Amino acid sequence: MNQAAPAIVADHLTKRYGDQVVVNDLSFSVPRGTIFGFLGPNGSGKSTTIKMLCGLVAPNGGRGSVDGHDVVREGDAVRASIGYMSQQFSLYTELTVEENMEFYGRAYGLSPQRRAQRRQDVIELTGIGPFAKRLAGQLSGGWKQRLALGCALLHEPNVMFLDEPTAGIDPVARRELWDLLFRLAERGVTMFVTTHYMDEAERCSSVGYIYSGDLIALGTLEQLRALPGVRPPGTVRYGVHTEDVMPAFSAARSLPYVTDTTIFGRDLHVVVSADVTPDRLRGDLVKSGCTILSVEQINPSLEDVFVALTRARSSAPAAA
Ligand code: ADP
Repeated sequence: MNQAAPAIVADHLTKRYGDQVVVNDLSFSVPRGTIFGFLGPNGSGKSTTIKMLCGLVAPNGGRGSVDGHDVVREGDAVRASIGYMSQQFSLYTELTVEENMEFYGRAYGLSPQRRAQRRQDVIELTGIGPFAKRLAGQLSGGWKQRLALGCALLHEPNVMFLDEPTAGIDPVARRELWDLLFRLAERGVTMFVTTHYMDEAERCSSVGYIYSGDLIALGTLEQLRALPGVRPPGTVRYGVHTEDVMPAFSAARSLPYVTDTTIFGRDLHVVVSADVTPDRLRGDLVKSGCTILSVEQINPSLEDVFVALTRARSSAPAAA
């Protein structure tokens, strides 16, 4: 196996259902041992992309490879070298943690000796040892997901596909699951993760954003922040911390030098002409009756990036 070759390659991958192009000419590659975040609204083509890369759905055009295997011609080899986990991963709730691992170890065709070894490795990695005898159905959401991840790792896959692995679990459990993903990446496992959480996307080595089947953004966080559509030349972005977020939002939108405004909790992100100082923006918002706690220059967040690119895409004329 060529260790320098990317773990995942999509090369002009395309999928159509009837007249609908659900994945359009998708190209990207994911280096080994990195975490690729794949984002996009529901129905934008994420699952279809995963299914093509796992060799479960045949593309109508383009090609793909996973762990060096062609996803169309070498589907069996692809499936042997990947692990897949989703929010709906089928754990057997009436079986204990250990019994679930035993079941999946057998399903992957591991020898008894190998099963025992891998169960031990996975218990160590996930920290699930204290719950080994507990029924899976009695685990908390976070531990269920860790067990699911552990089961998907039993055959030591080089590449993991994780479809919204943290949907529906609490923030602490989310963080712990991510710590586990980083440990796996350190061991050289490549991860392809879909998520709707921006904080998770920001932790990925690189991200792709798919919108109506088109990959409209691809790169590291720094590369995406620097895109001209996200940081238009001659503008600056301020974070406004305020006690009156809705009135401040309306006031900011009516200022002639403001080109974009978005609410993030109790903050506004406001894009203005580069010659506008923080004091001027603060002064104008205060004049409209808002209490402004601070105004400071900020970098675009990943959410800013996606909002900017999605707005640009929705307002662009449809391609002929
Ligand atoms: P996501 O995972 O981003 O929510 P999907 O890949 O599941 O998106 O779906 C993308 C589009 O493809 C949707 O419009 C969906 O209805 C359509 N689609 C997915 N699978 C099929 C199928 N088997 N037959 C017809 N249309 C499908």
